[in-house]
Amino acid sequence: MRLTSTSGSSTPVTFRHALLEGLAPDGGLYLPDEIPAFSSSEIAALRGAPLAEIAVAVLGRLVGDEFDRAQFDALVRDAFDFPAPTVGLGDGLSELELFHGPTLAFKDFGARFLARVFGYLLEQRRGHATILVATSGDTGSAVAQGFFGVPRIRVVVLYPSGKVSPFQEAQMATLGGNVSALRVPGTFDDCQRLVKQAFVDLGLRPLNLSSANSINIGRLLPQAVYYFDSYLGAAPAGGEVVFAVPSGNIGNLTAGVLAQRAGLPVRRFVSATNANDVLPEYLLTGIYRARPAVATLSNAMDVGDPSNFARLAALHGGSWERLRANVSGYRNTEEETRATIRQTYEAHRYVLDPHSAVGVAAARRYRQEEADATPVVSLATAHPAKFGAAIRQELGFEPELPARYRDWASRPVLAETLADAGYDAFRRWLLALD
Ligand SMILES: *Cc1c(COP(=O)(O)O)cnc(C)c1O
Repeated sequence: MRLTSTSGSSTPVTFRHALLEGLAPDGGLYLPDEIPAFSSSEIAALRGAPLAEIAVAVLGRLVGDEFDRAQFDALVRDAFDFPAPTVGLGDGLSELELFHGPTLAFKDFGARFLARVFGYLLEQRRGHATILVATSGDTGSAVAQGFFGVPRIRVVVLYPSGKVSPFQEAQMATLGGNVSALRVPGTFDDCQRLVKQAFVDLGLRPLNLSSANSINIGRLLPQAVYYFDSYLGAAPAGGEVVFAVPSGNIGNLTAGVLAQRAGLPVRRFVSATNANDVLPEYLLTGIYRARPAVATLSNAMDVGDPSNFARLAALHGGSWERLRANVSGYRNTEEETRATIRQTYEAHRYVLDPHSAVGVAAARRYRQEEADATPVVSLATAHPAKFGAAIRQELGFEPELPARYRDWASRPVLAETLADAGYDAFRRWLLALD
């Protein structure tokens, strides 16, 4: 696969190169020049295959030629070792449950694949790397769990002391091994500042610092896989589906469009946002207006300048009309999100987390307003037990965590705490790592 930057000035690179580099040298995002497409009979032949085998077929077709296939297929199977069931809710609406991985949210798919490919490439070069992540909670836990135990890689997660939930902290700070958790006495912005400063610090060169943030194409591409899997479960043979995608940085939506370009018969995408409606507004007006994010119940979608917008626009030739013809945008109020959680439980005994509820609310509005009878699959991006307090407010009870997490509160927290949020303290701590 050849990839070029959305800013247009870089020479094409391989997938391996783009994955190791993250951001293109001109500051743009890497995007495939051409996406090999599956024919409808090739897609039909995947029907009934387990998720891991669909992943091997899809990712093998897209980028497998850059790897030793036996080793690549093994790492793909290892990355996709949990299910993503599509559950019918009636009336032509289904939920694609992306929350059965280690951190109970869809970011596990991207993080696990990226970590394994990273490890494979370092093994080939006999190299090593230190991944630095600043997090306000969710990204850090997915990256920590994704890279946990991967040889040749050490992970350092920085988070604001006392400002992540106890469950998020447990997911980052109870692993040990190659994952170090570091509390910063300050804010998320302080964490980000420390990481940025470390990246330009020549004295830290020997650590081979690297990032695993969501603009890495190695996190995006594996997300195309579950669109294929869910399509095969939800669509009538050879027919079309609509995907409704709860959106923040719009990486998940962009991965869906990549799947569509790889031949998946997607009629249309519904991009669902909370009050942070930069994309729905753009689809309506043609004006892209970045602004500070406002806080909502679906906080992983509180994004005021979606980082993948450049990719989504480039995939539609930079044309507002073409983008509107493929993606509908819906903004939801907090009350709509809450009402959707209540109504879906009353009607189906199905508990939606606040992010997934934004998707379902938009899916329902789309079906009504467009009078479109195509089956709609809405992406359930997080497990409701991660948002117990919000669910208790609407439904009067807290959903239970899966059995493997029941003891999380008793696991010892191994985090260290920096003396202060200044760069010197962080630098000394990094250099003392063995
Ligand atoms: C990150 C996240 C989103 C938003 O996904 P994007 O790819 O940034 O649009 C939605 N829901 C949950 C639970 C998330 O963690």
